[in-house]
Amino acid sequence: MRLSLTALMLQIFFLSVPMMTRAAVVRDTITHGDYTLIVVNNAPDFSPETRQRLIDAFFIVYPEEATRFNKNTLRQVTFFIDPTYTGVAETGNGVSRFNPKWLKDHPEDIDVVTHEVMHIVQDYRHDGPGWLTEGIADYVRYVYGVNNLKSNWKLPPYRPNQSYTNAYRVTARFLLWIEKNKDQHIVDQMDAAMRDGTYTDSLWTKLAGSTVDGLWQQYANSPALELSYK
Ligand SMILES: [Zn+2]
Repeated sequence: MRLSLTALMLQIFFLSVPMMTRAAVVRDTITHGDYTLIVVNNAPDFSPETRQRLIDAFFIVYPEEATRFNKNTLRQVTFFIDPTYTGVAETGNGVSRFNPKWLKDHPEDIDVVTHEVMHIVQDYRHDGPGWLTEGIADYVRYVYGVNNLKSNWKLPPYRPNQSYTNAYRVTARFLLWIEKNKDQHIVDQMDAAMRDGTYTDSLWTKLAGSTVDGLWQQYANSPALELSYK
């Protein structure tokens, strides 16, 4: 999920409050190679094992995502474990916020990291379709995820009531289908266009030979896709 500007400003303010004044907060800085992860933990009972798994996932997937999609992505990322947050996870301005209750209840869902930090790599500052932003982030979770199998995270099979605008996993599966059947660089090109402000709807026709609606119709007619999870 991407973070709204208002929520972002509140969060920046919150993170800027001196850590000394909030006794429960634990802040760690970890650097591996080119990348630094700051973990701000406001949940005293958050599982140290889960915390470590989030960190390990970051240092595996973030460099992979950066290498493929955006070598100029931020070198420093912050994870904010926030017990006041009621969503699953959201990201804005180099900060990914996670709900410790969600992770307590779904301890294998480590690849929320893989999805969220892709939003940092995406760095889309221009208007483009939100469903594509989230579809690409779940495409990336499928390709680079480290624990999807164990968490039983799957791309749902095609159903007639779906649309590419459903975003997330529905759009991710559609992108994989286009990649396999039409243009193997579709995601790289869409991602680059969303970042540099050159995305237009006509890009689908230019790259994959049909409008996005036409592609969806072809997908609906023949949606089979071989998938494997790790
Ligand atoms: Zn997202």
